[in-house]
Amino acid sequence: MKIDYYEVLRITKTATQAEIKKAYRKKAIKYHPDKNPGDKEAEEKFKQAAEAYEVLSDENKRAKYDRFGHAAFENGGAGAGGFGGGMNMEDIFSQFGDIFGGAFGGSGFGGHSRGRARVKGSNLRIRVKLTLEEIAKGVEKKVKVRRKVKASGVTFKTCSSCNGAGQVMRVTNTILGRMQTATTCPTCQGAGEILDSKPKGADSNGLEFKEETVSIKIPPGVTEGVQLKVNGKGNAAPGNNSIDGDLIVVIEEIKHDTLKREGTNLHFDLYINLSEAVLGTSKHIDTVSGKVKIKIEPGTQSGKILRLRGKGLPSIDHYGTGDLLIHTNVWTPQNLTKEQKMFFEKMKNDENFEPNPSKFDKSFFEKVKDMFS
Ligand SMILES: [Zn+2]
Repeated sequence: MKIDYYEVLRITKTATQAEIKKAYRKKAIKYHPDKNPGDKEAEEKFKQAAEAYEVLSDENKRAKYDRFGHAAFENGGAGAGGFGGGMNMEDIFSQFGDIFGGAFGGSGFGGHSRGRARVKGSNLRIRVKLTLEEIAKGVEKKVKVRRKVKASGVTFKTCSSCNGAGQVMRVTNTILGRMQTATTCPTCQGAGEILDSKPKGADSNGLEFKEETVSIKIPPGVTEGVQLKVNGKGNAAPGNNSIDGDLIVVIEEIKHDTLKREGTNLHFDLYINLSEAVLGTSKHIDTVSGKVKIKIEPGTQSGKILRLRGKGLPSIDHYGTGDLLIHTNVWTPQNLTKEQKMFFEKMKNDENFEPNPSKFDKSFFEKVKDMFS
């Protein structure tokens, strides 16, 4: 059961913003973790006060809270964005800049030093081009990557400015009294170690370029612009304690000769001649998994769409596979011999050549509508 926010800050429902701020400052100082080390109850109260302030200091959120209570911020409640499992300390300290002014800006706050930072190398980006066939099945690609690695023989030593802690303590005067504030060590930038000796050819960080072949597993169904991450295949960072950056793979789709992609569905424009439309035929169609033979019924109309279920592309999130839609176009001959012309002249008023769409023949617009439903 959550306590009423007004109760938490001990203010009335009509409290002004100045009163809310003042009440929160009081609570924050009283229950601040640096003043109550190891006291779980104080920490809980500190968090409650921060959450109450977060809502009541925002007129919008406050109005929602006044109307719906805590339900306003629960999942599916009237308000957008809940607090999930409450606010974390980082969020709370990031609020402090507004309330206490510059004294508490930044992340270092007394006992809340996060210790030595693990320095991470920078990410590398490459583009990988894929055919629709590769996208359909998924593919493993080997790419050459020029990345920075630690030069062989390089050594690092503990930073003497911070004794490897990555942070140095500074005493500052704040409204809470004299406080120790941890700041990132300026000598090692938080890594806790510095370069000791480096071999020839290494840069000032003890790194050197190396060409490496990286194997990338690409899952089926990726789309243009999708980014995949290969952990640890970016640039290295100096230090024994550092972690390598990542390799970001950006997917590019190679245009297919005959197939057009639309999400997971594929489209194919099939041209048949007048005789084939009248007499029926069979055709070989390109799909992403090889050719398939399809049957064209006698009396096929131009614009007819054949749907080959499951012959499209898989969805990247495993929600099934799309279809291949074959759009039939009947090609009307443009050059005829005398005899051919005579034949069509004769047929001009023939009963069998009279357009007679049944109610089952859908119009172009209905077909398009169907395709998207
Ligand atoms: Zn240092």
